[in-house]
Amino acid sequence: MAIRIIRKDDDPILRKQSRPVEEFNEKLHILLDDMAETMYDADGVGLAAPQIGILKRVVVIDAGEGLIELVNPEIIETEGLQDGPEGCLSLPGVSGDVERPMKVKVKAYDRNGQEVEIEGTELLARAFCHEVDHLNGILFTDLIKDNE
Ligand code: ZN
Repeated sequence: MAIRIIRKDDDPILRKQSRPVEEFNEKLHILLDDMAETMYDADGVGLAAPQIGILKRVVVIDAGEGLIELVNPEIIETEGLQDGPEGCLSLPGVSGDVERPMKVKVKAYDRNGQEVEIEGTELLARAFCHEVDHLNGILFTDLIKDNE
């Protein structure tokens, strides 16, 4: 495993669309292992592949309940709303309040190509939305509401 360099601030790769993974091979497993190591090293809750310069639809999350690996994730259901502070490993020193669903259901594939469905509430729901946004070139600062 290896710690990868996290792309930051106005690096243009953070604004690109990531492509779906088609092959669930050793290369994907190495990417997932490196992403988890990089996320834990940086004390993050989640990391998306474009944040380390790889334009693939791959995400790792640990919201305190263990490592979750998502390949080609799609948000298929949302419920309720939450408003709260958010930050990003690619935007050090920046935080702001973002409205997200309270509950999110995600469909994705695991590292072996098995389809999985995972539900999350609160921080995990927020992380699902934040990381899927990264795959579409969206940063949380795009979503910060103006002061009320
Ligand atoms: Zn982020």
